[in-house]
Amino acid sequence: MPSERSSGRAAGTAMLPADSAPSADLLAVEDLTVEFRSADGDVRVVDGVSLRVGEGETLAVLGESGSGKSVSSLAVLGLLPRPAGRVVGGSIRFRGTELTAVDERVLRELRGERMAMIFQDPQTALNPVMTVGAQIGEAARRRRGLSRRAAREKAIEMMRLVRIPDAERRVDDYPHQFSGGMRQRVVIAMALALDPELVIADEPTTALDVTVQQQIMSLLGELQRSRGVGLVLISHDLGVVAGAADRVVVMYAGRVVESGPLRPVYDRPAHPYTVGLMRSVPETDGAEPLVPIPGSPPSPGRLPDGCAFHPRCAMATDRCRVEVPVLRPVEDGRASACHYAEEVQRDGVPAAG
Ligand code: SF4
Repeated sequence: MPSERSSGRAAGTAMLPADSAPSADLLAVEDLTVEFRSADGDVRVVDGVSLRVGEGETLAVLGESGSGKSVSSLAVLGLLPRPAGRVVGGSIRFRGTELTAVDERVLRELRGERMAMIFQDPQTALNPVMTVGAQIGEAARRRRGLSRRAAREKAIEMMRLVRIPDAERRVDDYPHQFSGGMRQRVVIAMALALDPELVIADEPTTALDVTVQQQIMSLLGELQRSRGVGLVLISHDLGVVAGAADRVVVMYAGRVVESGPLRPVYDRPAHPYTVGLMRSVPETDGAEPLVPIPGSPPSPGRLPDGCAFHPRCAMATDRCRVEVPVLRPVEDGRASACHYAEEVQRDGVPAAG
């Protein structure tokens, strides 16, 4: 798949500006800072976030609601709500091209052709008065100039790809005639219809029950591997992404607090927040009791002094209350923004309370 892509794309595909530098990374976000205007002034919701996604790689971005993970992905796609949301610092490079410097027309083309997003609620992502076939085929009609008949064939092909049974018959059905899991498969088919290089999936299974969640995650993983797509999986649930991701970035209060290859992070987390996330999701075998992280995340713009996690952290010390921990290497390819990362890795974190 990569060689096909690098050899040139079909007519009508988005063209990157001539100064595009080749890049080993599909996506490289460096020091991204995003602010929102509010009645109280500018509020920083993403602060110095860096992440990379290689070709054909799956990156999980984890954190609770309000951690900045979804805003970061909207910034990557140029979809921040305007005029309130703005990228005020840092860099977003897609295949070496600086996206913060390109105009809206180029971004729109990239979004349609080479980057796609899967939103969490298939109900709102789909038009209730259009057949699913028309919705899956629409982009191909608009951007590839396919006839109505060819777009319908394309829709059937995509529905087969995402394993919607009886695709030839169901292509003319409307979204309400599908279950939640099947609707999410339709949304995935729409996202993949133009063969994008990067797909960002924002909580793609949240609205679904546990069995269907697992089916959708394994479908996404399979499609990612077979089509060589770079995948960013945004989730609050480490359990959901554990089987699918190569690497993980954990975000809290707009910053990255831990990052690294998924398995070592999962086995020996180096930040108390990561430990909290792991304890707060149910184990599939029910072996470990579910322990929610006490308290709630701080509002952006009203962060506590020192480590933003300290009011909720069972290991907080006086140092944590005054000194902001920087993201630093802890071992090969891993980083943590905790003053006591090594202790956390070695001894774990005492249960709160
Ligand atoms: Fe907890 Fe302190 Fe580490 Fe923050 S720096 S996560 S408060 S131990």
